[in-house]
Amino acid sequence: MASAICAPRRPTPSNSSSSDAPAKLNEMSIPDNDQSELEGGQLPDCLTLWRCIGCGAMGNSEPCTGTCAFRKLEIVSADEYAELLESFATVTDKAKRLAAVVQEIAVLGGSSNDPQRDYRRLQIRARETLRLVQQGELSRQLIVTPADEYATVWLCGTCGQIEAPQSCLGVCIRRNGEFLRSTDYAELAARFEAQRRKADEFRSLVLQLAWVAPRAGQWERACRAFQEKAVELLRSAQPSPDPTEDNRGGPVKPCGGSPNAGV
Ligand SMILES: [Zn+2]
Ligand SMILES: [Zn+2]
Repeated sequence: MASAICAPRRPTPSNSSSSDAPAKLNEMSIPDNDQSELEGGQLPDCLTLWRCIGCGAMGNSEPCTGTCAFRKLEIVSADEYAELLESFATVTDKAKRLAAVVQEIAVLGGSSNDPQRDYRRLQIRARETLRLVQQGELSRQLIVTPADEYATVWLCGTCGQIEAPQSCLGVCIRRNGEFLRSTDYAELAARFEAQRRKADEFRSLVLQLAWVAPRAGQWERACRAFQEKAVELLRSAQPSPDPTEDNRGGPVKPCGGSPNAGV
């Protein structure tokens, strides 16, 4: 599981165009870049380290060349990253399903002269989507690892040696595991939170439409009001520019091999 998420960095694929979206909504359709990331376009490097289960000392097996220049490196386990990635996929799917309904709300009543029928029809679709989204939700809430719980190790910029010495309790029992830079984790955590917020906003509008019925004679007005809210929401949900290549240094090798290599 863990090593499946570790892959060499590859260039981010260019965004695929969403050709199935209505022409007039092209400018505000939800982009696919979150999805391409999940498909392996941009995965972080990882480090295979041993960790003593007794004292917590950590390191790798790079030989030292003599003149070491260590600097601090914060890491999280690949398992934590994998768990976050899974939750990110779930919430992305949820946001997409809800966004599709919000896009329909954005053109509600615009194409016919029967706003009541359009409204009722979309209400049914909204309720179906809410049901689907609820079924797909995680039964438990993911707890994102806070920054003060990242592990700290020391990375030598010259030879790549990593160590986190601890005063040993006696016999060291080393287990290999895979770890990632905390910056990769924090970046994904930020995207996860943003996606979760977006999904919540979409959901609250879809919920409103699903259960609010206008009074007689107010259908057209209600359609317009929902339309405006949806357009506003889609506009504000436009993604911020992709986080560009970060300024990380130091020799880090991409991990390969079988899931349990070295354990
Ligand atoms: Zn060194
Ligand atoms: Zn130990």
